[in-house]
Amino acid sequence: MIRPVREGIVLRVEAPTPRLRRLVLGGPDMAAFHTPEGTLGPYLKLRLPGPDGRACVRTYSIRRARPAAPEIEVDMVLHPGDAPGSAFAAAARPGDRVSLGGPGFMPATPAPAYLLAGDHTALPAIAQILETLPPGPAVAAFVEVPDASERLPIPAIEWLIRPDGAPSRLAEAVRDAWPAGDLLLFAGAEAEIARAIRRHARSERDLPAERCQVLNYWKLGRPEGGFSYVA
Ligand SMILES: Cc1cc2nc3c(=O)[nH]c(=O)nc-3n(C[C@H](O)[C@H](O)[C@H](O)COP(=O)(O)OP(=O)(O)OC[C@H]3O[C@@H](n4cnc5c(N)ncnc54)[C@H](O)[C@@H]3O)c2cc1C
Repeated sequence: MIRPVREGIVLRVEAPTPRLRRLVLGGPDMAAFHTPEGTLGPYLKLRLPGPDGRACVRTYSIRRARPAAPEIEVDMVLHPGDAPGSAFAAAARPGDRVSLGGPGFMPATPAPAYLLAGDHTALPAIAQILETLPPGPAVAAFVEVPDASERLPIPAIEWLIRPDGAPSRLAEAVRDAWPAGDLLLFAGAEAEIARAIRRHARSERDLPAERCQVLNYWKLGRPEGGFSYVA
């Protein structure tokens, strides 16, 4: 858990796509979630009631921070089952209060090219990076979603549609789009898919560890806390 624990108040709940809930959180503590310019993929830790009644922690990206308000936006995927994060997003209503910790983030890492890849859960981080990167570097971004209705109007993203049960094409897209020369790779996806991307980058492309930011955002069949984000 990233300390200290702060309190957010749900101001608005939006549905940018059928399977995504955007929670706009306010309250004075939200000023703390504004991260330094150029930081990549800032995130926070929601503290939610767990299945056993005890508090559990779930990690979500800070899609946008508006420090003057202060407000933040968090885009949460609704996935099958009654898991704490997804259930919280589905039931959230204005006025709800939630404890959160953070922010955590990757420091600004200038690179001549960026390759961004992720599934639905990494769309908020990739959208944040695309919005905040300084002009100049070449950028390629791939996001795999379960349905065409899950796409957002972000021109820089190349969308891959993966219907439920179909194999992922994300690692293949990364392989095919690999640019010549120095780059930073940022990826977030289910652990097996992240592993394939990481293995390609490190073993086949010799990408140095500090240029390879590939995280296991979730792991099939395991709740958060039951696996490591990094290999
Ligand atoms: C740095 C970081 C940033 C992240 N940012 C975001 C974000 O902005 N938005 C977002 O939605 N997620 C994000 N995630 C992923 C999110 O933390 C996980 O999906 C988390 O497991 C959701 O918690 P839960 O309580 O819903 O499910 P859990 O209780 O953790 O898991 C319960 C079950 O649901 C399955 N499951 C979990 N997530 C999914 C999914 N997306 N699809 C299908 N099955 C799933 C698990 O395999 C498990 O079997 C991020 C993760 C990291 C590490």
